[in-house]
Amino acid sequence: MRQLLTRLKSFRGALLWDLATAVALFLFMIWNLDRFEGNLTKVSMVVLTTGFLVLMVAVKYQLLYKHFGRDDVTGGKDKKEFERVAKKMLRSDASYVLVYANIDRFKLINEIYGSSVGDRILQEIHSIVDAELRWDEVSGRIMADNFGILMRYHSLPKLDERLSRISRQMEGLVDENGNRYGIALYFGVYVITDKDIEVSTMLEHANMARKKISPGYRVPMGIYDEKDKLRLGREKELEMKMHDSLEHGDFIPYLQPKYELKGETIAGAEALVRWKDPEEGMIYPDEFIPLFESNGFVVDIDLYMFEEVCRMVERWNREGWRIIPISVNLSRSHFNVPDFFHAYEEILERYEVPPRSIEIELTESLFYNDMEELNSLVGRIHNVGLSCSIDDFGSGFSSLNVLKDVQVDALKLDRVFFVNENQKDSERGKNVIQSVIQLAQALDLHTISEGVEERDQVEFLKQMKCDLIQGYVFAKPMPVPEFEKLAFGSYK
Ligand code: C2E
Ligand code: CA
Ligand code: CA
Repeated sequence: MRQLLTRLKSFRGALLWDLATAVALFLFMIWNLDRFEGNLTKVSMVVLTTGFLVLMVAVKYQLLYKHFGRDDVTGGKDKKEFERVAKKMLRSDASYVLVYANIDRFKLINEIYGSSVGDRILQEIHSIVDAELRWDEVSGRIMADNFGILMRYHSLPKLDERLSRISRQMEGLVDENGNRYGIALYFGVYVITDKDIEVSTMLEHANMARKKISPGYRVPMGIYDEKDKLRLGREKELEMKMHDSLEHGDFIPYLQPKYELKGETIAGAEALVRWKDPEEGMIYPDEFIPLFESNGFVVDIDLYMFEEVCRMVERWNREGWRIIPISVNLSRSHFNVPDFFHAYEEILERYEVPPRSIEIELTESLFYNDMEELNSLVGRIHNVGLSCSIDDFGSGFSSLNVLKDVQVDALKLDRVFFVNENQKDSERGKNVIQSVIQLAQALDLHTISEGVEERDQVEFLKQMKCDLIQGYVFAKPMPVPEFEKLAFGSYK
């Protein structure tokens, strides 16, 4: 009954119109009633006409509006209806929060159990969420495995408590054999500060917040703040122009020299991308590489940088300059592209670069993945005459054990070894660095210390027999012509 009332309410305009038409017809009939002979005929006419009108309106609503606002899978509200009801509730003076809930790895559930089980789980989630809600709160399925929930707001800990109550019930969902599906919900939260914006925009805010998890809560949830909006705007702006920029050659390689420690001369360099935007000026990789990693564009950038470096090294070789090995970065996103290394091999075929003049830097986090896949990549890198190193070593949690399993050529000690105030000067810190370098040496790996800024660290690394240093203490990344002047100036 309540559902019927709500539904009727949503067609109030149309319903009023239909009723007005019916009343008009009815009056018209009464008006003309004396044209009929005999009381019985008159009563039957009134009953028949009224019955006909009621039937007409009922059939119309049944046929046309049966599914209006209802989500076919869960039986709850669909996005439009959710937004409509939420908007109405927000007219009250109470404080509200908009929660965007997404089921973690729901695709997997559909793949393993089939979509009918998936649908049943969506129904159960809808019931669990709805049972938690008060009369002045509402939920709806926004799309696929995403739910919108408008809840009264008291405080974040209180909200955390309510959401964890929902999550706990979710964890209890089992299949017919009593095995848990292991369902977890991730929440994005927009504490509604501006009730005048559209509910669809509030949903976007909450969804955006869902992608970053704020620490300190029982459930995985991210809380929207205004900075997110600025960030998203900026990301959209960069995404709009990234393709054109690549075509126009606005991405350029900078080179940061690596110095060998015995004579303190240049013995290599790392190619680092810079985005030289004609309007904005220089944009640094910290701003766009994480974005490109999430949207996949980093794969194009890395290939482009690789080709630029191949072209440059071939030119140096042709012009008779000494060969300085250049390293390029390879993002972990490549592993989402089947046989991605083929594109590298193709580029390499186009340029005659001397063997071992280019090195591929594989970031440490790649080493948490499938070792077999990684080993076969390292094999292919070596096959085409390139060398490879583990980048950012020490920044994550890779086990020292991987060093014996993967045949890389060099180890780049991450900046963390040299920036951590407590570590860099302490005996313990020095011992750690010393041990890593000794381990690398025992495994026949070259060592490069990255992010070194102070002279006394250079002296210490010299004692440790570290091979190379790449850091501001010697040089910052620079444009190619500047590097050539520095590296070849006296050899030309
Ligand atoms: P990374 O690969 O670890 O590169 C080293 C970064 O440390 C560079 O920052 C470099 O300028 C900086 N650095 C070097 N020495 C020092 C030092 O002594 N002190 C300090 N404070 N910093 C130092 P950059 O060029 O801004 O690049 C940042 C990150 O962006 C890189 O870290 C890398 O992860 C990514 N990146 C840059 N270019 C590319 C690229 O072409 N492809 C990919 N996939 N990632 C790239
Ligand atoms: Ca690197
Ligand atoms: Ca690094």
